[in-house]
This record gives sequence, C-alpha cells and structure tokens, in this order.
Amino acid sequence: MKYISTRGQSPALGFSDILLGGLAPDGGLYLPDTYPQLSDADLMAMRNMNYRDLAFAILSRLIDDIPAADLKAIIDKTYTAQTYSFARAGQNAEDIAPVLKLENNLYLLSLSNGPTLAFKDMAMQLLGNLFEYVLAKKGETTNILGATSGDTGSAAEYAMRGKKGVRVFMLSPHKKMSRFQTAQMFSLQDDNIFNIAVEGVFDDCQDMVKAVSNDAAFKAKYKIGAVNSINWGRIAAQVVYYFKGYFAVTQNNAQKVDFAVPSGNFGNVCAGHVARMMGLPIDKLLVATNENDVLDEFFKTGIYKPRGAVNTFQTSSPSMDISKASNFERFVFDLVERDSAKVRELWASVDAGDAFDMKHLMHKLADYGFVSGSSNHQNRMQTIRDTKAKYDVVIDTHTADGLKVALDFFNQPQRDQHQPMLVLETALACKFEDALVEALGQVPARPDSLKGIETLPKKFTVMDASNAAIKDFIVAHT
Ligand SMILES: *Cc1c(COP(=O)(O)O)cnc(C)c1O
Repeated sequence: MKYISTRGQSPALGFSDILLGGLAPDGGLYLPDTYPQLSDADLMAMRNMNYRDLAFAILSRLIDDIPAADLKAIIDKTYTAQTYSFARAGQNAEDIAPVLKLENNLYLLSLSNGPTLAFKDMAMQLLGNLFEYVLAKKGETTNILGATSGDTGSAAEYAMRGKKGVRVFMLSPHKKMSRFQTAQMFSLQDDNIFNIAVEGVFDDCQDMVKAVSNDAAFKAKYKIGAVNSINWGRIAAQVVYYFKGYFAVTQNNAQKVDFAVPSGNFGNVCAGHVARMMGLPIDKLLVATNENDVLDEFFKTGIYKPRGAVNTFQTSSPSMDISKASNFERFVFDLVERDSAKVRELWASVDAGDAFDMKHLMHKLADYGFVSGSSNHQNRMQTIRDTKAKYDVVIDTHTADGLKVALDFFNQPQRDQHQPMLVLETALACKFEDALVEALGQVPARPDSLKGIETLPKKFTVMDASNAAIKDFIVAHT
C-alpha cells in the first residue's frame, strides 16, 4: 500500500513516511493509491468483532509498514474503556463508540466519550501512540505546532501528553475559548505540553503557525510537525467507526444505512467516503453544515466557493466554523477520477480566491451518495430542545446541526423508512455550556471527574501575535 498525492507531483510513500507530515511536498493531500476492497465474507467476519479487533481488521489494510503484532498492540492500548470513559448512563461502558437509539431506525453514534469529549479523540488518541512508535523506530523527535479555537488543540494535547519524542506547542486566542475548553487545556501540567495564549484572534494564531512552517530552515532545524485535520492517520482511524456503526444497527450485509455528519473541514465525512469506497454498504452520506455552508452549497449546486476569513461567521457550533474545507480536495480527487492535473487546476483557482464549478458532475455526486443540508442558530436551539423533550437526550450544538439535517431527510416520504440513519455525535453537551443554557435553561450535566476543572492550576504563557515571539519560545524550549 502506497500513498499518493492528490496533486500528482510527489513520490508515493508508505504510511509511516506520511504519518508525521502534513501536506505532500507538492501541496496535495495523501490518499491510498487504491482503496482496499472488502468482500462480503470480510464484512461477515467483521460483524461481531469488538472495536479493537475491528480497528485492526481495517487499519491493517491501510497500514502495511508497521508489523502486524506492533499495530495490534498500539490499537489495543488505544481503544480501551478507560480512555473512552464518558459513556451515557445506560450505554455499555465497555463498548467503544456505542450507538444510542432515539427512535426506530434513528440512532446517535457516540464518538465523544474520550478525554476531551469530542469525536476528535477517536483518531487523535491513536495518532499519539502511532507517533511515539514511529518516532522511536526512526530515532527522531518532533515539535508539533498548532493553532486551535478549541476541540483540535485539546484533543491533540490529551493524545500527545507524556509521549516520548513529542512536544506540543499549541496557540490559542487569549480569553476567547470557552471556559471549559480553556480549563481542559491549560490544566495539563505535562512537561511536553506548551499552551500559548496569543493576544489576538484565531486567525492570528494560524498566521503564526503558517509563518513558522513557511520558514523551511527553521522548520527543518526544529523538526516542526503538525497534527491538523488533513493528517491521513486521523482519517484512517475515523474510517473504523463507520464500520462499527453499520454493524451495530444492521443484521446482514445486504442492508444499507445513512450517516449524517456534522461537518467543517470535511475530515469526518471524508472517512465515511473512504469506508464506502472500501465496500461498506453506505447509502447516503449527509453533509451537515452550520451557517458556514460552503459544503452545502457545493453539494446542492456543484459550485465550490470558499468564503475567506471575513465572511466566516462565529456560530454556536464553533468547531464547524470554516471558510474552506481542508479535506475536500481528497473527495474531489476521486470525483474527477483521480486526474491530478485537474485537481491542480481547480486548486490554482481556489488559491487565487476564485470558485470552481462542477455542475456537469452533479450526477456523480449522487452516485457517491452525498446529500447535504445546513442548520442555523435557531435550528440548533430548537433541535436541542426537541431532542430533550422527545427522547430525553441532551445533545451538543454540533450534533444538533447533524440531527437537524438528518431529520429533514429522514422524514421525506420517499425515503425507505426501514433504512437505519446514524447521526454522528461529535461532542458532548457539557463542552458548550452557554449554548446549552440558552437552549434548555439549565446547565448540562458534567461527568464527575470534570467537575470544577476551572479551578485547577493553569500552565500557559501569554504571547503577542508575533512570529518572532513564537520562534524564540520554541528555541528556548527545545
Ligand atoms: C472538528 C469538529 C467537527 C467538524 O469535523 P470535520 O472533520 O472538520 O468536518 C464537528 N463537530 C465537532 C464537535 C468538532 O470538534
């Protein structure tokens, strides 16, 4: 199994060689040269596996340069009930990514039971263990530099804390994350984790990361790495739970299911696309956006028009507030039948601030099973209230966007009412207290172990939004 770039101008590499980097040298994103194909017999064998065995069955087909016994050990150490410990009352605590039935053929897939209460832990925890393993094998170290407005940074820190060979420098806008997210990140006391609160907004943080990454000499000397959403290891790990969800709600492999996916950078739903390409019987993949609806617009019109930072709204589902969807290029590569010259041409226009138009391929979007919808603040509040009233289940704002779009589709009369629909639960409600109080008039319940985290001692450094300042800091701490 080799990995190739969507732009077609980088050498094909093995999994371990693309794991630590971000973009391919030609600016593209990595994908398997061919998707492994699972037969009906393969699916039958997987049907009754626990999450660890299922993850190995799938990931060993995507990772062939780590010895099987080592890969199995890494997976077994990652997917434990101790790590994914925030199951809801009534869910099997030993089950990783359990489903929660809302009504007949409508389910939540609980992906947010990990340490930071968001689905990003599903992939990031594996990445932490893979990084440590691959770095040790290569005799290397890495300094991960990232910018976060919340979920990504905390998931990365909880995955990388205490890992040998890894340091994390995480920039966040000073005093602009939620209290809970700030407390989660800043209370980490590990020596290899550096929280940097930047006097500015998220874009300032991102610009600082870009400035450092664009300084090739500095980047090489200080071994600057990333764990951003385009990392292939994260997508690969996310493929597993689509299989898990499918088997949990079907009896045989002739059945099809739909998934609704709260989407921002298109990483989560891209993993669904990969699962489908590997042979999982998925019918529809519903791309659910918030007010930042660049993806909804594309799947409805065929026109992809990134918004730019000034036209990106701050919403009550902040982890989906994107101006362009960084993983989208992976799907478009498949859509244009892996014509990398075409991808280069399309992204040349995107990078110049223009749109591109794939109207002539609308029929193929349907063949790939994509459907889309968007949600806004009012929809989100109403969906949270309705879900509490109807099912006595409290969901977060991102999951609400997914459920809103799912229900619009679920209730269409022409849809097969016997086909299961799974909504991916991408965060737990207590992460977004203010929005939940607005929706329900009460503070969402929090797991006991997270009560009072706001009062824990905090470790962080306040910094001006200056490229020199972050470089000096990295030099001083490596
Ligand atoms: C990151 C995130 C999303 C968006 O996922 P993408 O992979 O970027 O599409 C949705 N919901 C939550 C809670 C997130 O943290």
